[in-house]
Amino acid sequence: MPELSTIDLKGKRVFLRCDLNVPIKDGVIKDDGRIKASLPTIQLLLNKGASVVIAAHLGRPKNGPSTEFSLAPVAKRLGELLKQDVKFLGEITGDSVAEMAGSLKTGEILLLENIRFSSFETSKEDVERENFARELASYADFYIGDGFGAVHRKHASVFDLPGLLPHAAGSLISAEVKVLKTLTDKPERPYGVVLGGAKISDKLAVIENLLSKVDVLAIGGGMVFTFLKAQGKEIGTSIVENEMLDVVKELIQKAKDNGVQLLLPTDIVVAPSFSPDAVPTLVSVDQIPVDQMGLDIGPKSAENFASAIVKCKTVFWNGPMGVFEFPNFAAGTKVIAQALTQVKGISVVGGGDSAAAVRALGFEDSQFGYISTGGGASLEYLEGKKLPGLIALDLA
Ligand code: ADP
Ligand code: MG
Repeated sequence: MPELSTIDLKGKRVFLRCDLNVPIKDGVIKDDGRIKASLPTIQLLLNKGASVVIAAHLGRPKNGPSTEFSLAPVAKRLGELLKQDVKFLGEITGDSVAEMAGSLKTGEILLLENIRFSSFETSKEDVERENFARELASYADFYIGDGFGAVHRKHASVFDLPGLLPHAAGSLISAEVKVLKTLTDKPERPYGVVLGGAKISDKLAVIENLLSKVDVLAIGGGMVFTFLKAQGKEIGTSIVENEMLDVVKELIQKAKDNGVQLLLPTDIVVAPSFSPDAVPTLVSVDQIPVDQMGLDIGPKSAENFASAIVKCKTVFWNGPMGVFEFPNFAAGTKVIAQALTQVKGISVVGGGDSAAAVRALGFEDSQFGYISTGGGASLEYLEGKKLPGLIALDLA
């Protein structure tokens, strides 16, 4: 597939699939990282003399259009960042979209409404997706895929549409794939991975795969309590996935067999309830009170993880170490983020909440080797899966 930079798009209408899935609360964008990450490709296309029809999704709307999941605030922010008008009709398909797409002049942008407002986008029926993709294809002469956060989805605008038009990968997807390829193919050693976040079941496959690749695996966040329980420890009212206990025991054994240094916390910050003003108490991992829940790893554990991380030449981090959204329980995540900034080698942050966490805690993107825009997508890539959106762009 030709490099985007070498393709002549002068006077062409380009359909660009972006990932503009940003957290929005009461109409206000909480973190515009993914919008900013989409700008280089958009600007490149405009500089090449193309006009651009952009499609993106927001959240997981279940019942068609709703204000809650509208891309309207994103259209506004995108316009501010690009310092130019972004046309937004609040529709995905139909006569007015076709008309506006058809009359776009060089350098103009039309953002379609949340592509998932159409049930055909995510349909399991190939025919439904294909018909929808054909309609989308009629708006443009060329397709650029740049929505990395959605490439693990077999969706119409990600998987089917590129097959209907000449296509290429945008600069964001190219950069993401380049970094993840380094992690899977030839990581410099020692290679350390830090995993946290809410659930193991989300990340089980990637943990399994990483156990044959990494030198150090540190585990914190909500998922750690299933590990601690599997080791026979009292975990109080911490979140736990009981159905995963046996699997976790196997993972612990596999780590041993593979000579992977598995780091688990030795101290935990607990609280009586899941709330921002719950009173935090620091306890040893062997002394979690029955009526309290672990909401962060303790300072000793964080230091221990950090000192292992800074010795690594390659580090991948996914999942906060605690409930970073509550300041009382953000310290563990902050120490890990700090350690990643000190890595002399490549440090990669993956995961929507992890990326939001490092920004919310006051770090700059530039302090890290790379902040991936894709949570699920980067994890599935590291699992070794062939992702539909990358297959469609001839990148898998
Ligand atoms: P990412 O999006 O980076 O992949 P996840 O979605 O897996 O991360 O997990 C992020 C969430 O995990 C955060 O909202 C955080 O509050 C939550 N979390 C972290 N530690 C705990 C804990 N000890 N108990 C409950 N939730 C936790
Ligand atoms: Mg998440």
